[in-house]
Amino acid sequence: MNIPFNKPYMTGKELWYIAQAHHLGWLAGDGDFTRRCNAWLEGRTGARRALLTHSCTAALEMAAILAEIEPGCEVIMPSYTFVSTANAFVLRGAVPVFVDIRPDTLNIDETLIEAAITDQTRAIVPVHYAGVACEMGAIMDIAARHKLLVVEDAAQGILSSYEGRPLGSIGHLAALSFHETKNIISGEGGALLVNDPELAERAEIIREKGTNRSQFFRGQVDKYTWVDIGSSFLPSELIAAFLWAQMEEADAITRRRLDIWQTYHEAFADLERRGKVVRPHVPANCTHNAHMYQLLLPTLEKRTAFIAALKAQGINGVFHYVPLHTAPAGRLRGRAAGDMRHTVALSDRLVRLPLWIGLEEFQAEVIARVIAAAE
Ligand SMILES: *Cc1c(COP(=O)(O)O)cnc(C)c1O
Repeated sequence: MNIPFNKPYMTGKELWYIAQAHHLGWLAGDGDFTRRCNAWLEGRTGARRALLTHSCTAALEMAAILAEIEPGCEVIMPSYTFVSTANAFVLRGAVPVFVDIRPDTLNIDETLIEAAITDQTRAIVPVHYAGVACEMGAIMDIAARHKLLVVEDAAQGILSSYEGRPLGSIGHLAALSFHETKNIISGEGGALLVNDPELAERAEIIREKGTNRSQFFRGQVDKYTWVDIGSSFLPSELIAAFLWAQMEEADAITRRRLDIWQTYHEAFADLERRGKVVRPHVPANCTHNAHMYQLLLPTLEKRTAFIAALKAQGINGVFHYVPLHTAPAGRLRGRAAGDMRHTVALSDRLVRLPLWIGLEEFQAEVIARVIAAAE
């Protein structure tokens, strides 16, 4: 029996809603399904404005425009993240300034941020790794003291919370992903959450090719025209229809993922006690969404052997990320602030285990094989 690393979950209603969009005959963006998805996101996060995009990458690119990033601006972020966190800002000419991560949550180490701030710093981009929140209280305090914008990369963070506040609702802006590897999916997809009311109107314009089309549709202006820079960041209604089916089931999806996560967590407690692995850590002031179940092996050699042993038993465990400050484009375009020792060490030691709805059926067997592979 082969266990894939990921298997996209379908609720069963996706095609029905796509058929409805087809029947309604509105296929471009910002129709009824997009409005429902935006309203759901606003309701669940408390964001001032939620705007569906065609990816989280697109939402981050919009955030970089809204942050008024200019060539030479610096943006503080972890190096242990997906490339889009940096690329969206590099596209506007920014220099990503990479800060080390905390060894417990693998999130940006908030105690190192202030030392990385210069006269050029414009924004901080905390990434909520595995859907577990960064220490947002400290990060928002630093940002306020230095008048910086905070853009949450909440690609993995839907329906997680920090001190009772939904992820994506705390920074000035936030980006979510609905890529098929995330919890709630539409194949490719994302959303920009705008919490700073002063940025809401411009966000709509940037998303609609730099036009005031959204205001025109609401009857707020009598001409629809080019007013700002922008691009086409909105998804088709067909994507929104698919996503709506997922949003309706979002709580059930999260519960099922949490059950799988918890079953892993209890099963591997003994391995952790015996020093074979380190399990994920969720701080007491955070709730998470079971986006990921990852283990830390003691060394790179042990991780390589562990992944090979999993593979031999039909289980696809994977690792990520190549730290951005060591990647070719990261070395050219960004710089590291500090020694990055946790980023470098932990990225060599991490393994992600399969976590998808339907795994429950095989989980006892998967766990037995994981334990055998870790011995
Ligand atoms: C998945 C992911 C992205 C990119 O999301 P897309 O929707 O594929 O553009 C960005 N940042 C992080 C941390 C991610 O996990």
